[in-house]
Amino acid sequence: EPVDELINRLLVTVEDFPEPGIHFKDLTPVFADGRALRAVVDALVEPFAGSFDAVAGVEARGFLLAAAAAYASGTGVVTVRKAGKLPRQTYSAEFELEYGTATLELHTDDLPPGSRVLVLDDVLATGGTLSAAAELFGRAGITVAGFGVVLELTELRGRRRLGGHRVRSLIRT
Ligand code: IMP
Repeated sequence: EPVDELINRLLVTVEDFPEPGIHFKDLTPVFADGRALRAVVDALVEPFAGSFDAVAGVEARGFLLAAAAAYASGTGVVTVRKAGKLPRQTYSAEFELEYGTATLELHTDDLPPGSRVLVLDDVLATGGTLSAAAELFGRAGITVAGFGVVLELTELRGRRRLGGHRVRSLIRT
């Protein structure tokens, strides 16, 4: 079964979560299925093979993908975390949410400058999250080799906010 069919069969749309009017795409059943998890991780890594030195995951569901992708490709994993979670010196980037703002942080010394990182998350919506991640790596002197997401909500045009970076999405709605 192709990876896109596997994802579409397993993902669940939850109406009115976390707020009325939102059709939340729940990928936890995809992660819970061993064959789907492996197919997803392999498909996210494959186009970037040989072009990255580490994998970054965005808190929290991105961590699941990033750790698996790093293990599969024999690289390390770094965490892009919500404000206040990382214990040492960080870069931080604020971005817009529908209501208010959020902040993401990256340790300044998790990877040496000049490293190339593959950045993974579960969903690309407005692109605010991944563009903030790109800003963090830029400030650290780290090259973004590309972005990978399981699901891209194309009507929100998040891809446009990710500059010239390569973006691999496994399904689009
Ligand atoms: P963006 O910053 O608007 O691109 O939103 C992407 C972030 O919000 C990701 O970290 C996702 O985990 C989360 N997100 C947005 N929409 C959904 C959804 O429908 N399902 C699961 N996560 C979502």
